Order: sequence, then C-alpha cells, then structure tokens
Amino acid sequence: MGLGDIADSISRQIEAIGDATSEALFEPVIRLGVTGLSRAGKTVFITSLVANLMNRARMPGLMAAANGRIETAFLQPQPDDTVPRFDYETHLSAMTGPAPHWPDSTRAISELRLSFRVQPSGLLGGLRSARTVHLDIVDYPGEWLLDLALLDVSYTDWAAQTLNRIDRRAQAQDYLAMARSTGADDKLDEMQAKRLAASFAGYLKAAREDGYSDCTPGRFLLPGDMAGSPALTFAPLPKPDTTPRGSLWREMDRRFEAYKSRVVKPFFRDHFARIDRQVVLVDVLGAIHAGPAALEDLRGAMAEILTAFNPGRNSLLSTLLMQRRVERILFAATKADHLHHTQHARLTAITEALLRDARDRADFAGAKTAAMSLAALRTTTEETMDHDGQRLDCVRGRLLDSGKTAAFYPGALPEDPSQLLKPARKGAERWLEADYQVMRFAPAEILMRPGEGPPHIRLDKAAEFLIGDRL
Ligand code: GDP
Repeated sequence: MGLGDIADSISRQIEAIGDATSEALFEPVIRLGVTGLSRAGKTVFITSLVANLMNRARMPGLMAAANGRIETAFLQPQPDDTVPRFDYETHLSAMTGPAPHWPDSTRAISELRLSFRVQPSGLLGGLRSARTVHLDIVDYPGEWLLDLALLDVSYTDWAAQTLNRIDRRAQAQDYLAMARSTGADDKLDEMQAKRLAASFAGYLKAAREDGYSDCTPGRFLLPGDMAGSPALTFAPLPKPDTTPRGSLWREMDRRFEAYKSRVVKPFFRDHFARIDRQVVLVDVLGAIHAGPAALEDLRGAMAEILTAFNPGRNSLLSTLLMQRRVERILFAATKADHLHHTQHARLTAITEALLRDARDRADFAGAKTAAMSLAALRTTTEETMDHDGQRLDCVRGRLLDSGKTAAFYPGALPEDPSQLLKPARKGAERWLEADYQVMRFAPAEILMRPGEGPPHIRLDKAAEFLIGDRL
C-alpha cells in the first residue's frame, strides 16, 4: 500500500466515523404538541394520527406519503425518561378492536416517539440514502395552559378575582358557604385545608361538566401524579384583616406560590418551551350544542389559552421560553363527522371567528397558523333524505347512549358565524334561529385493509400542515 493509499484509507475511515456521528447527532426531531380542553379529542387524535402515519393508505393529503417518499414509520422509545408514554396500543385497540369504544381521555402529560425513514427529496434525492426523522408527540391538557395567567397574580388577587367570578354560579354555592364559614386567620388545620381544596375542586369539576371553560388551577381538574400534594391543597379565601404566622390564609398563600413555582413553571420550562409545532383541538360543535353560554365561555378560555403562544405578552413566559418559538399552530375543530361535509366550511369559519380576537391580539410571533375542521375517527356515513319535501343532508351512525343506528340531521350551521357568536356574547340563553342536536356517536366497527389506518376526515391535511415540510 503506497503512502497515497494509506492517506486515502485514513480519510475514508474518518469520513465513515463522521457519517455515523452526524447521523446520530443530526437526525432531525420535530416536537409536536397536542392540546385542547378536556374532551376536545386529544387522545383520539393522537391515536388515529399515529395509526394513519404508520399505515398511510388513507393519507393522500400528506405529500410525503402520497409520493411514496416515506419508506416506513415505526414507534421507538421516547427520549424523555420521566414523562409517561402515551398509551397508543391500548387506545388503538379500544377504538378499532372487536367491540369498539372510546379510549380513556388525557389526564396528564404523555409522550410518544414515531420515527420515519424518508427518501430525500429534490433532484439528487434518488442518489442519497434514506434519512431518519423523529416525531415526538407531546399530549398535554389545555387546562394546564390556562395556568399561565396565574404566574402574574398574587394569591390575594387570584382569590379575590376567583370568588368574584364564581359568586353567582350554582355549582360554587357549597364551596362559597364553606369558605364564608372559615376563619382564614385561624391557625392552619390540615383537615380543614383539605376539605376546602376538595370542595373547590368539586366546584371546578361541576363547572367544567356544565360547560364552563375558565376552570383554573388546571391541575385541580387533571392533577396527574400531583394528586393530594400540598401544592394542590389550597383554595381561594378572602384576605382577613390580620394574617398571623401559621394561619390558614398564610399557608394557602404559600401553597399557591408553591403551585406556581413547582408545578406551573416547570411545565412551561421543561415541556412547553420545547415544542416546535402545535395543534390546538377545539370541540366547537360540543359548545354550540351546549348553548350560547358555553360557546361564549369557550371563546374566553381559548383567548386565554392562546396567550401562551404569544410570549411577548408575558414577561415571565418569555424568560422561560428563552427565545424559542412555536413555528406552526393548527386550530382544529374536532368531531366534524357529526356534520355532513357540506357544513364543514361553516364549522371552520365559526372556529376562525371564535379565535379571531385572540389571534388578532396575538401575532403568534411569526408562527404560521391555519384552521380546519376534522374528525380523527370517522364514526358516520353521509346520507341525503327527503323530509317534508325538503332535502336534508344527514349523517348516519350508532348513538353512544342507546346503541341505535339511525340517520340524524344535526341542524344547519349559519353561513355567517356572527349569528352564533353575537348572541353568545350578549348572553342569550338559547339559540333562536335553529336547534342544534346533541349527539354522541360510538366508534363504528371498522374494516381496515392492509396498509390502512382508521377512517378519518382531513387528518392527512392536518399532518401535511403540521409536519409535511419536514419530511
Ligand atoms: P381528550 O380529553 O382531549 O383526550 O378527549 P378524547 O380524545 O378522549 O375525546 C373525548 C370524546 O370526544 C371521545 O370519547 C368521543 O366521544 C369524542 N370524540 C373524539 N374524537 C372524535 C371524532 O373524531 N369523532 C367523533 N364522532 N367523536 C369524537
């Protein structure tokens, strides 16, 4: 071997080492956050998205899938050892197994890594070997984002604002009676603190079930593994004239601060700050069905949630994020399979209008945004029926409560979103123009051919917007 050959072989070895390290180091990672208020559809969305990314026959709107550049997609151990894994397999078998049913909903943060082998695109694409792209999906309750507003307030102010807001709500009366009969300047009694916290959490739960969205602290509804800890054992009490050391009020104040520094801040710093792409799921149809008050309340809660994507408005948040920005945000109205497709554009328009205030105020720091209507799991088929000489565009499905299969007409959404949003804002008690039927469908028995994921509506378009440019 001559000198030249030795030099050549050494440099080739170095190149090979370089390739191996750069592959491990430079495999791109997309961190996709999936959020939305409780029951918005996060669990169903992630499960169906992952199943449809692994089996892509129903994903023509995802370009890299349509043109065959995705060679394969497979689940891998996630990079974060301390975050629970999203229970994909259990959820998928619930939705697509022999007696299909809805999976358990999101209770806390969880994560899943899906990795793709993708053919490079471009002129030289065919010459280069496939590369690996990781998609880390992070599922977390939208309620946790509402807590951002707490970072800026003291316990005194938070308690005053909260007591004022819930004063006339029927769901809060038990708690309010308990709070009134409590001497906040008395010495701390742990059992009493527990009773107050439990009663307040009970109010939040009832309010949430009745359609209110402004239910903070978020961990009271979805405590995750923090249930029962002191940082979650507080409640709003009016400030007494004196607040002696060791008093109930002082301890509540301390715990509120602990909740902020030990629960809220770490979530934003360790999880939220690392998200590149975000989908915010919104059950707009559910709120319309529940009536004007629920729709107005959803609007308020979404405006608050969206401030988290506008770090300029919150100095503490910008410090926690350290210049990191979400690049794309998709706002998706879920459960669109409750409607005939002729109404989907109206649902999207209502969703856009619902979020308009918040979107106008927040410029999302240059993030690209879009809105669409989708169904992560399609449970219905479409049907047009004659009714009193009128053609009605219906959907057919199996109702969750009765198990009966029938065709339903959900009511026509208005073309102009303000026909819903205006009366909601003005505090109307019910819709005047139309009646929107409440329906909850059960997942249908699905026949999935090899290569197919579960049936959906526009999940492929959502995936294209969220990650298509990185594949
Ligand atoms: P999460 O609390 O955000 O995780 O919400 P889930 O994903 O558990 O969804 C809550 C409920 O909404 C489910 O149990 C279903 O009843 C319903 N749902 C969610 N996604 C869909 C969908 O694509 N179509 C229909 N028809 N219902 C859905």
